[in-house]
Amino acid sequence: MKLWLTDIAELHGLRSTLQVLRGNDLSNFPSIKEAWICIENERIVDYGSMQDWDQQNLDNSKVVSIKGSMVLPCWCDSHTHLVFAGSREQEMIYKIKGMGYAEIAAKGGGILSSARAVEESSEVALFEAAQIRLKKIIGWGTGAVEIKSGYGLSLENELKMLRVIQRLKNNSPIPIKATFLGAHAYPLAYRERKLAYIDLIVHEMIPAVAHEHLADYVDVFCEEGFFSLSDTRRIVEAALKFGMKPRLHVNQLTSSGGLQLAVELGAISADHLEMMTEEDISCIASSSTIATLLPTAAFFLRAPYPPARKLIEAGAAVAIASDFNPGSSPNGNMQHVVNMSCIQMKMTPEEAFQAATFQGACAMELQHEVGSIAKGKLANIIITKPIPSLAYIPYSFGENHIQDVVIRGRFLSEE
Ligand SMILES: [Zn+2]
Repeated sequence: MKLWLTDIAELHGLRSTLQVLRGNDLSNFPSIKEAWICIENERIVDYGSMQDWDQQNLDNSKVVSIKGSMVLPCWCDSHTHLVFAGSREQEMIYKIKGMGYAEIAAKGGGILSSARAVEESSEVALFEAAQIRLKKIIGWGTGAVEIKSGYGLSLENELKMLRVIQRLKNNSPIPIKATFLGAHAYPLAYRERKLAYIDLIVHEMIPAVAHEHLADYVDVFCEEGFFSLSDTRRIVEAALKFGMKPRLHVNQLTSSGGLQLAVELGAISADHLEMMTEEDISCIASSSTIATLLPTAAFFLRAPYPPARKLIEAGAAVAIASDFNPGSSPNGNMQHVVNMSCIQMKMTPEEAFQAATFQGACAMELQHEVGSIAKGKLANIIITKPIPSLAYIPYSFGENHIQDVVIRGRFLSEE
């Protein structure tokens, strides 16, 4: 049966090309006013202007008028850590009271507290908690997502996390990409023998992850004092042998060569980029690596925001993502990410919508399936509440502007 959505106030995000966008092209978020869209067998089959709508072809059809609403492609959130156990609001209170990283770590906080919680959780409990989060973000309009491991930090628990992601993949209506992030932090037992942990990742974790086909990508928290440039290179080269491409956490705390290494290793995406020199900006702008910015994490950590304007003006391919995680971005609502991209990083609404949809799809290598309104793509679309313009979404922050979400041609509200 065909599903026709008609009387759409404006249909946004039309794009049939598959090439990631750079510079001025980012602001080109094409639309049609007073539009319809037709969906069949989970996919977009056609769209057009209400003026040209042919009412005679309605055999075996369901027609839904969504007068006043806008339609846009679902968010493609290309950086999350949404499999985790417990929450860390106590750390937020410690930080408010002025405690530093070392003091919080001494009180049992930080990534290692999430690692303990994952260790103590069963695979079923982890899956159930993650599935609730996944359903929540789909309800906020996310139609494709990347999820990382990285709170396991042992062979057994990294595999546990990745198996949970695999189960989410098998049970979720939206496309999911899995990333192995064993190099997220050093577990306590390896604090004094860091090289032994890198050996464990390279010789045991990566082969085991590959053996079970649990990861599409490999990620490393590449930062001075955490995983060095040479550690990162070793881990990525080991993973590449098993077909896991890199996407890397770089330049979050310092500019010390992480970005250049990501580009040299052919990373799909270099993520964070809070600390960027002019050289870093021109390096990524002249590469094929996508610059994925995570403004809600910068907000939560009171860190400098990534230089989105400079990156766009230099011609970099910019995407934005939620970094949904319990420590530094405990929210996966992409409407907030779009708001902060506009207000704090001075992206225009069109640039932010593009970066949160098509560019995010490119950063997950899913642009042939999702990320824009195009014939043949999955019908994963957002229906907004009646709003005066798309810019109203980042403008009227903190509100949920989504009336319904269609995933593979089915209304979420009818599930
Ligand atoms: Zn992250």
